[in-house]
Amino acid sequence: MSVMIGVEVHTQLNTESKIFCSDSTDARDKKPNENTCPICLGFPGSKPKLNKRALEFGMLIGLALNCKITGTMFFSRKAYFYPDLSKNYQITQYEAPVATEGHLAIGDEKIRIRRVHIEEDPAKLMYVDGDINTAKYVIMDYNRAGTPLAEIVTEPDFTSPKQVRAFLEKMSSILEHLGVYDSSKEASLRVDANISVDGGERVEIKNITGFENVEKALSFELVRQNGLRRVNATVKRETRHFNAELKTTSALRTKEFEEDYGYIFDPDLPTIVVGKDWVEELQANMPELPDQRVARFIKQYKLNDYTSTVLVYTDKCLADFFEESCKLYKKPEVVSNWLMNYILKSLNWRSERIRDSKVKPDTFIEMLKLIEDGKITERYAKELVKEYVDTGTSPKKLAEKNIVKMSEADVEKIVVQTLKQNSNVAEEYKAGRKESLQFLIGKVLAATNKQADPNIIRKLLLKELESK
Ligand code: ADP
Ligand code: MG
Repeated sequence: MSVMIGVEVHTQLNTESKIFCSDSTDARDKKPNENTCPICLGFPGSKPKLNKRALEFGMLIGLALNCKITGTMFFSRKAYFYPDLSKNYQITQYEAPVATEGHLAIGDEKIRIRRVHIEEDPAKLMYVDGDINTAKYVIMDYNRAGTPLAEIVTEPDFTSPKQVRAFLEKMSSILEHLGVYDSSKEASLRVDANISVDGGERVEIKNITGFENVEKALSFELVRQNGLRRVNATVKRETRHFNAELKTTSALRTKEFEEDYGYIFDPDLPTIVVGKDWVEELQANMPELPDQRVARFIKQYKLNDYTSTVLVYTDKCLADFFEESCKLYKKPEVVSNWLMNYILKSLNWRSERIRDSKVKPDTFIEMLKLIEDGKITERYAKELVKEYVDTGTSPKKLAEKNIVKMSEADVEKIVVQTLKQNSNVAEEYKAGRKESLQFLIGKVLAATNKQADPNIIRKLLLKELESK
């Protein structure tokens, strides 16, 4: 069985103003349709003006994806009749996109990038009492209309849904490192995924948000198309919709072809000539990209390839968090170990990303210092992580709150008792096996229900062990 998958990724660009007017791109505190003007509402006679920054963001994406930047480009009108675009056409690039013919490596495979273009985002439609198939009515909000979008189109080079997910994760990390995209905004990365099996017709699943959902939607489609082929039914070329709750896709409409849109040149906007100087300037000011950052992590922090890759590609904020922490606590290996094996696991368990969490570098390294100073054991710290991630409370305070100190005299009794019960280990220690001390500290700590200070336990144990 051969599988072909190609994706179109739409990302909102985080310019300050919209692509063809000066309205803000941030309408989070606005009422519906308040963040609009005659241009983004598409009133007759209004004239769009191009936001240079949006174009530059498109060029940056092209350069980061190893594309050629188009020398002479223009905008086109993509005609369609739908309530999310009152002009009945979307201003986009068709014949001359910002960038073409790039590639991005996913592991050992190269995914070819066909094109990158910029366009305006349509309005947001809200389906009331149902979804796109069942809603009673639809509410339109034009606040979002005119937000710059970049569309990145790949060649159908993917061979599995999983590979697509890895691509999207890498892509979002690149976009974040470029500073062109704000992943904290709702639905700022939307994916159309095309899939065909054994040379059959391809199906397009429109408008999926969330990388996990993209993988699920494609996996479902793969099974569905295989099922059809097994009973010799043909797969229809159509556009489908992914239902994230049911994890299934359903038919929306038979697939339109690009020619159906009747693209025409938009005479309201000028033709843009991009000179070599402009491209060189952008290239020279290009921020550090994920692959470079991984290489730097390996060199600067002496981390291995795997650790560096996880830190950089999971999420830019994770890599930033790591570097912040290393400034405060100069043991990168310890920092990465606790971050990846405990903090990240705890966050994943809560389905939370580090940027939205209560975890902060200064409190995080407090915990590492407590361990280093012997104020808490590693084992106790592992338990502390959960409460720390839940509440964000300073680990120092948590430790103080949780460890109700026992009096030294009480601890001493338990120390004596523990040494009696583990006399063989005590003997080993005296014979020179220094690691045995750690074992004994653990035993005493457990016997005190972790209510004693490990430093005091250590001191008392040494006193006992050395006296006899
Ligand atoms: P459309 O008319 O749907 O825009 P395009 O040629 O622009 O068609 O391709 C859209 C997407 O579909 C691209 O990401 C491309 O890689 C993908 N695609 C093209 N052919 C196939 C195929 N046979 N199977 C899966 N995906 C495909
Ligand atoms: Mg297309």
